[in-house]
Amino acid sequence: MTPHTSTWQTELAAAFTKPSHLLRYLNINSHTASTLAEQDFAMRVPLSYAACMEKGNLNDPLLKQVLPHANELIQYTNYSHDAVGDLSALTEDCIIHKYQGRVLFITTGGCAINCRFCFRRNFPYSEVQLNKQKEVRVLQYLHNHEDIHEVILSGGDPLLLNDQRLKHLIDQCAAIAHIKRIRIHTRIPIVLPARITNNLIDILSNAALPIVLVTHCNHVNELSEQVVTACLALKKQNITLLNQSVLLKDINDNAKILQELSEGLFNCGVLPYYLHLLDKATGTGHFEVQQEQALKIHQQLQNNLPGYLVPKLVKEQAGEASKTLLI
Ligand code: SF4
Repeated sequence: MTPHTSTWQTELAAAFTKPSHLLRYLNINSHTASTLAEQDFAMRVPLSYAACMEKGNLNDPLLKQVLPHANELIQYTNYSHDAVGDLSALTEDCIIHKYQGRVLFITTGGCAINCRFCFRRNFPYSEVQLNKQKEVRVLQYLHNHEDIHEVILSGGDPLLLNDQRLKHLIDQCAAIAHIKRIRIHTRIPIVLPARITNNLIDILSNAALPIVLVTHCNHVNELSEQVVTACLALKKQNITLLNQSVLLKDINDNAKILQELSEGLFNCGVLPYYLHLLDKATGTGHFEVQQEQALKIHQQLQNNLPGYLVPKLVKEQAGEASKTLLI
């Protein structure tokens, strides 16, 4: 792939962290972001993501995903700090074990971008931080549970780890005989495509086990040329690429937008996988799309797209044995 002129670490360090700077970059003068919302959950937006936003448009669907807003302070009923029961399924060692056959491994609390609707925006990452001792116990846990066949590297965003650390974790998991696949949940190919370096692609494509990379893209405008190039480079090395989206009010709650997204993803070698109803995390209620509306949108997608481009409409309910299929 085309070499990037700056390293991903440089771009990450220069990410917008002040709403006023991002708004100035977008030539938006007449708006003040909520300081209280920002204090509750910091803003972070890499330049490559901001560059996909429309200048001068406060209602840009990408800007709305990342700009702190006073609506985050509204207390909605049935919203909580632990929307999907992560904490009760968390072992002390960075493992969330909810479902049969697979576990989530919290490898880092950091993300390249802070999405205002994030279901883990209230997650106690500081208490769950991975260290050498915890890593030993995680690997022991995986060894001891022979029914675990898939490890999902999650976070935060696992691609925020440096190459050496990521390779080490992949190698350690792959060395356990009953593990058959490694899945990586990441928004980084979409929001910081410079991270998809040749070296990272080599690590993933040379792993001892198949790697499934699940991206998180919500809107076709997120698929910049650089994102397309990054995804195609991964695809070329036979990395399985899937995408999950969150249905977000006034951002992508529209069949036409989602249809364009599915087609755009396919052109990058990525298959749509899940379309999630919003998880009811405190601070995110203003993004909710009602289930009835979601079903109508999904029906339109089914009418207009071939089946392999229609993501499964799901919601996650604490304590359930899997995600709940809504259709
Ligand atoms: S990248 Fe994922 S985990 Fe990170 S803030 Fe966004 S939705 Fe949450």
